[in-house]
Amino acid sequence: MLVSLDVVSLFTRVPIREAMEGVRELFSPDISDLFQHVLTTTYFKWNNTIFEQKEGVAMGSPLSPVIANFYMERFEDVALSSAVMKPTCWLRYVDDTFVIWSHGKDELDRFLTHINSIHKNIQFTMETENNNKLPFLDVLVSRREDGTLGHCVYRKPTHTDRYLHKDSNHHPRQKRAVLKTLFVRANRICEPAAIKDELAHLTNVFQANGFSEHEIKRAFHIRRDTPAPRQEPTRSTAFLPYVEDVTDRIERLLRRHNVKTVFKPTHQVSDLLRSVKDARDPLSTAGVYKIPCSCGSAYIGTTKRSISTRIKEHQRNCRLGHTDKSAVAEHAFEERIHNINFNDTQVLSRTTHYYPRLNREAIEIFKHPFNFNRKEEGIKINRLWHPVLEKVTRGPSSPSEYITAYHQPITAQVDELTSATTSLNAVLEKVTRRPSASSPSEYSTACHQPIVEELTSATTSLNTRNSLETASVAVKVFPWKLRPRH
Ligand SMILES: [Zn+2]
Repeated sequence: MLVSLDVVSLFTRVPIREAMEGVRELFSPDISDLFQHVLTTTYFKWNNTIFEQKEGVAMGSPLSPVIANFYMERFEDVALSSAVMKPTCWLRYVDDTFVIWSHGKDELDRFLTHINSIHKNIQFTMETENNNKLPFLDVLVSRREDGTLGHCVYRKPTHTDRYLHKDSNHHPRQKRAVLKTLFVRANRICEPAAIKDELAHLTNVFQANGFSEHEIKRAFHIRRDTPAPRQEPTRSTAFLPYVEDVTDRIERLLRRHNVKTVFKPTHQVSDLLRSVKDARDPLSTAGVYKIPCSCGSAYIGTTKRSISTRIKEHQRNCRLGHTDKSAVAEHAFEERIHNINFNDTQVLSRTTHYYPRLNREAIEIFKHPFNFNRKEEGIKINRLWHPVLEKVTRGPSSPSEYITAYHQPITAQVDELTSATTSLNAVLEKVTRRPSASSPSEYSTACHQPIVEELTSATTSLNTRNSLETASVAVKVFPWKLRPRH
């Protein structure tokens, strides 16, 4: 009998203490302490109250699947060795397990009760074969008359067969990648007898998603025996919004300088939706801000800490007359009367990364010619960008009836160009290797990040083992013969 077992909400229920015992057996005390630190300091805020996660691992952390797997490895050792009747085959991928059972239904129920009694947090749900078929991960396993197993691609009943549409504003390479990925999956998962149907299905689906027969055929044509050409190591990567005929040309320019380009979609549906998380105080983040003055001028600044903290420093410098420490204080102490309106501080951007933030500041300073920033502060925008920025920041000076018509496209253009400029400037900066900008301390605002990365690399070898297990589950195990049923 084909059976699949699934642990209910594994990540949020992994017992940390037991999981740490496994970690300490595998790693040096130093690394284990880092694990302990990361696993026991997960906090979140809800309804203005800060909570600590006491059980389980954080959803979305790269460490979580690794920890969950450490725990499950020990768990299954105990569960299987203490079971009276054991499965013929037990193949687990994190929380999903593929089982072949040959002791009948009653014994199977007893086995389920047994593994559910080992730890109160680890509860399995069970699914048994239906019409000799059982879905496991994205493979549909079927049992043939002679006891061998067949396998093909599994889609959930709710699957809509909707993929990236041909007309979507994405780089053609990304669209081709979707076609290729599904083609490769068909070849990896399907047994030879099932491939023809799967490819016919994919062809129909892609046609429904706007692709021509020619495009589909071309995507399916993969020379699988020739290895991918050796790529020169690139000097840097640029992240650009995909704007047809604009950023793909920039890509070609960059490629000549051995800089790789990654295209990001400009607008996504998720951008239009409200976040489900509690709104944060806009001043509590890092970013670019603007402090207005009663004289009509303004100060544009940026900080990697919270904007409110930086504002308090400006206020303090104004109070104490530290004109050398703050351009805002210097302005406040000029001959004319200047009332700095700290309460009207605007957040212009919540960009936290170093280069995007500095470039955004430079663009905002450019957009606000009436500012009292010190000229030597911040980075300079390459002159090449000036005509573009001038064109898009001039704004609608026309009568009000034109404003609605003009405003929108201009804002959209500014947004696009802002991020295009930011990314490209970042690349140019990196390529020219300015020494002032690469000190590690500037990047270490979040203390967790480096630790998590450290741990991720420490566990890579173990991850490789896990993914090999997955691969074998998904592809290689199915030609096994089953013992005929009595
Ligand atoms: Zn002023």
